[in-house]
Amino acid sequence: MTDIAIAFDVDSIEQALKLDAALGEGPEFAKVGLQLFTAAGPAAVRALRDRGRRVFLDLKLHDIPNTVKGAAGEAAKLGAELLTVHALGGGEMIQAAVEGITRAKGSTRVVAVTLLTSHDPNALPPGYAQPFELHRVLAAQLVMAESAGAYGIVCSAADLPGIRAHHAAPFYAVTPGIRPAAGSKDDQQRVTTVSDAVRAGAGMLVLGRAITHATDPAAALAEARAELQGAVLGRA
Ligand code: C5P
Repeated sequence: MTDIAIAFDVDSIEQALKLDAALGEGPEFAKVGLQLFTAAGPAAVRALRDRGRRVFLDLKLHDIPNTVKGAAGEAAKLGAELLTVHALGGGEMIQAAVEGITRAKGSTRVVAVTLLTSHDPNALPPGYAQPFELHRVLAAQLVMAESAGAYGIVCSAADLPGIRAHHAAPFYAVTPGIRPAAGSKDDQQRVTTVSDAVRAGAGMLVLGRAITHATDPAAALAEARAELQGAVLGRA
């Protein structure tokens, strides 16, 4: 089963509902990220849930464990099905997020963001150990995240084969940075197509501007769905 999450990177509830209407009904998750959550807060999550959307809350939490525990508990109360935290926050912080969700009696799944897909591993900001062995680091982050109770990781689909070279067991991956073959990369560095991401075994594809900035978002989404189905059938 491979899901699609649409990045609702807009500045108001009105815009979010407009996008929701433009996309039409579907099983896709609405990914509420930093822009919409900063602009409209929990009301944006509630509004999308009221429209029947499953919500993926992409807040990329990275703080001391106690603070993340509290925030994750609130995300659970909002009914978010997925919540992102930064793997760089460490195992104790990820475990705290899971505890916060359990304490709130929620069922939100925590996924840990590895290296942002906007980062070029050859031009990383200070703070990353050099030389940087991308797939070894991502595999180590995966092991840490899973042992802290995370459901999976967020990474580029392009990194999945490399991670598997270090970690044979199956794992859940959310993959942003998805673009149509001829599309613009925008600020993303490590991009893949829908079919490549499916073939690489992604569990959830995050599609943002490729859909939301399309002249006809519903048609762009229909194409992405068809490409996904084709790749899933080809994989079976
Ligand atoms: O428009 P685009 O498809 O590039 O949007 C990607 C979305 O996925 C954005 O909302 C971004 O915040 C999110 N994301 C990402 N890279 C990560 C985690 C999340 O691009 N590692």
